[in-house]
Amino acid sequence: MVLRIIIGLALTVVAFAIAGRRLWWLYRLATSGQPAPERIEALRAQPAQRAGAEVTEVFGQRKLLQWTVPGAAHFMTFWGFTILLLTIIESYGDLFSKTFALPWIGHWAFIGFIEDLFAVAVLVGIATFAVIRLRSNPKTEGRESRFAGSHTGAAWLVLLLIFLVIATLLLYRGAQVNTGDLPYAHGAFASQLVGHWFAPLGASANQVIETVMILLQLAVVLGFLVLVTYSKHLHIFLAPLNVLFSRRPNGLRALPPMRSGGKVLDFEQADPDADVFGIGKIEDLSWKGMLDLGTCTECGRCQSQCPAWATGKPLSPKMVILDLRDHAFAKAPYLLAGSDEARDQLPDEVKAEAKRPIVGTGEAHGVMHPDVIWSCTNCGACVQECPVDIEHIDHITAMRRYQVLIESEFPSEASGMLRNLENKGDPWGMGESKRAEWITELDFEVPVVDGRIGDDVEYLFWVGCAGALEDRAKKTTKAIATLLHTAGVSFAVLGPAETCTGDPARRMGNEFVFSMLAQQNIETLNEARAPKIIASCPHCFNTIANEYPQLGGNYEVIHHTQLLAMLVAAGKLTPVTPIEEKVTYHDPCFLGRHNRVFTPPREIMEQVPGVRVQEMHRCKERGFCCGAGGARMWMEERIGKRINIERIDEALGTDPDTISTGCPFCLVMLGDAISAKKSSGEAKDSLEVVDVAQLLARSVAGSEPAGTPGAD
Ligand code: SF4
Ligand code: SF4
Repeated sequence: MVLRIIIGLALTVVAFAIAGRRLWWLYRLATSGQPAPERIEALRAQPAQRAGAEVTEVFGQRKLLQWTVPGAAHFMTFWGFTILLLTIIESYGDLFSKTFALPWIGHWAFIGFIEDLFAVAVLVGIATFAVIRLRSNPKTEGRESRFAGSHTGAAWLVLLLIFLVIATLLLYRGAQVNTGDLPYAHGAFASQLVGHWFAPLGASANQVIETVMILLQLAVVLGFLVLVTYSKHLHIFLAPLNVLFSRRPNGLRALPPMRSGGKVLDFEQADPDADVFGIGKIEDLSWKGMLDLGTCTECGRCQSQCPAWATGKPLSPKMVILDLRDHAFAKAPYLLAGSDEARDQLPDEVKAEAKRPIVGTGEAHGVMHPDVIWSCTNCGACVQECPVDIEHIDHITAMRRYQVLIESEFPSEASGMLRNLENKGDPWGMGESKRAEWITELDFEVPVVDGRIGDDVEYLFWVGCAGALEDRAKKTTKAIATLLHTAGVSFAVLGPAETCTGDPARRMGNEFVFSMLAQQNIETLNEARAPKIIASCPHCFNTIANEYPQLGGNYEVIHHTQLLAMLVAAGKLTPVTPIEEKVTYHDPCFLGRHNRVFTPPREIMEQVPGVRVQEMHRCKERGFCCGAGGARMWMEERIGKRINIERIDEALGTDPDTISTGCPFCLVMLGDAISAKKSSGEAKDSLEVVDVAQLLARSVAGSEPAGTPGAD
């Protein structure tokens, strides 16, 4: 008895010492990052919302369960380990007293049953994980496997340890059935079964098995504890914290403002030598950013949904996190050294790692290649999928900010766009005089605001650069205006007073240009005392609704598909002309995934007589990007398959007559892909891409815009 107490306690002290030392090291590393007071403030301001997220995402495993089979396996394993904490207490108790039972509940058959039930559930869970890993093996599937790039050896070791935890548990409890030490006379069905197998061995053999297996169980549990602190299974401890401090409702919608030392950067006073401009070195991450790195489970869900990865680009959102994490760990001795002398004495490889830029090629060999960060379309699929709420887009944007604002390094073809935004207020450099030309092509008046909007005007129609200046998108603008006119909705536009919202500049990382354009627009909107705003472009919609509040501009914004769906439902627009076509709808990322507007465009299409809607496999939350977001619209796509072609290939699989969408950028990208497919004979000549508003206008009597022969 004394010996087993000594062995049990000695193992515990050693394991806790190793794990504690490692956790302290991780804590110091995380807090060597920048402060993030906004995360603490958000927690204080929204305690109920945060508690709700813990309940649904950590205990309810909401995001994990979006993938049914692996989600169910993880649910069983998570709850299994939570319930089996009771058995660990029982094991320790057994070291001291053979008749130990949990106080009050320790002889209750239900507890014995539930412990055994979850022990079996964990075995089922890890067997499922093993099958998933065997079926999605990076060695055979290459980059198709979501585990490509993950540390698969460590994952197998963890599965083995979990198996040993359960195996030793059932073995010692089986022996206890025969020695009479099991506290549960009934209910512990799996232990009873093992006891039945052990019964022929006799009492003394069962005594030995009980003692050895209890010690082995403690050794395996404690070994697992140590391994957790050195592996991706750190997420067991960190995921609840990461969820607690993540942006709510998620890391989509608005980009966070630039911060230095925890304060929002004021460009008028910022000093590039003293302030942090994005992420140029690992310690520029905030502690929340560091927490993201430590929390990644390497599950590869983000990677499996990333359009850049799917089309052969070097960007994998998982690898972005893992590369940053590996670099942070390798540089940690340098960051945690207490003095310059201590740093001088570090091994050369640590000093070399400390000098590595985050992004770089050639001699300045960076943690990642520039093509990685510039391949991102900001589609949000990674953030949407991540079960532990890692904020990939924030990290990628922060790296872009440093590259653009400090290094002036970015794809050269985007420089024209940035120059045009600064000088002309639109990405094409067409200038304000062209912004109201589309109005002259209509056969009714559209009021252009000059100063303050009249009290009789219900909506300000924010047309956007593409909607005002790009020929294909202009058709959507005219369709929306005509439908509003038909429905008797009073609206006005800003015309030449409108300028780019700044979205492409911000997504490029040029926060300076974004802030300049945003402030100008906020001034205009405040002066006009804008009522409700209709945005036809999801990027404008997202920026005005979600990002302008960071600069003091608070407006009620609605996407045109939301308003049109309401007008149809209210009987103010009645689609009558049948459109006998099979239509597949492409979800724009900034409308769907970022802002969760999935239903209104579909409601509109359902109301158009004759339209047969056929969903693509990747739709709604899992919609696949067109390739234009994240300012990619203004960059060349030189690596891998074009994202718009990949999307059109999927659309063609539904054999559509028409592809519909709700975004001018998607309209252009998909239109280009259709043209390419028509040239190669892979798409029928009649195939076209239209905005849902155009589809509706064709069906509503008197709403076909003047001078619109049809799309494309
Ligand atoms: S936002 Fe989209 S493109 Fe960018 S890393 Fe995430 S999934 Fe990939
Ligand atoms: S970032 Fe999230 S989704 Fe991607 S591998 Fe890590 S845990 Fe999984």
